[in-house]
Amino acid sequence: MRHYHRKDWLKFRQEVIELDGGACVRCGRGPLQGAVLQVHHKEYLPGKLPWDYPYELCETLCKGCHADEHGIVQPFTGWECIGYDDLGEPSGECELCGTSIRHVFFVQHAKWPSLEVGETCCDHLTDTTLASNHMDSIRRFEARQQRFIRSTRWKVDSDGAFRIHQKGADLIVEPVDEKFRLCVNNVRGKKTLSSVNDAKLLAFELLENGELDAFLRKLKMHAKRADEIA
Ligand SMILES: [Zn+2]
Ligand SMILES: [Zn+2]
Repeated sequence: MRHYHRKDWLKFRQEVIELDGGACVRCGRGPLQGAVLQVHHKEYLPGKLPWDYPYELCETLCKGCHADEHGIVQPFTGWECIGYDDLGEPSGECELCGTSIRHVFFVQHAKWPSLEVGETCCDHLTDTTLASNHMDSIRRFEARQQRFIRSTRWKVDSDGAFRIHQKGADLIVEPVDEKFRLCVNNVRGKKTLSSVNDAKLLAFELLENGELDAFLRKLKMHAKRADEIA
């Protein structure tokens, strides 16, 4: 699923509101007068992300004036999910049902302001299982991650280093001044991490995203070149 750049949207929204002088362009009310400001897209451009619109197609409206613009009844069909973001903690709020959400789905509609919603509401609005499928794969990934971290194949040395052999590589998490460093085949990583688990997570990431393979290939090439020179 496409990544929803929430920061881009928040930044764009702020810019439009500032361009409009921080107040609703219909009734002139701003936050000091108790207005909740929103960004209205005057036209719908299919395939365009809400934060990629030209400024002149956007205007600041308060929640009340925005509702007048779109009508009272929110459409139940015709929604499209355009992206996903993980906030890292449940700091978001589903704009449909009000529950706290960590996993945010961004949905848009030709005739209604775009919304940030949770998994269930996204499935309902889009009448698909896109969001729940996406969450299933995230949950599977997290389960795999936890299994790797807790694996009994990690062995601890007398000097406090954790070792595991995986995908043809020797991965070692070694303590350095209260912190930890990941070593791959005796090559020390530059990054230090604050916990053993963080270092193990980094190892998992390298295994998953293919960087470890690339790194091992590079090592092999260097070794070969060294042989040739010798
Ligand atoms: Zn207004
Ligand atoms: Zn609108």
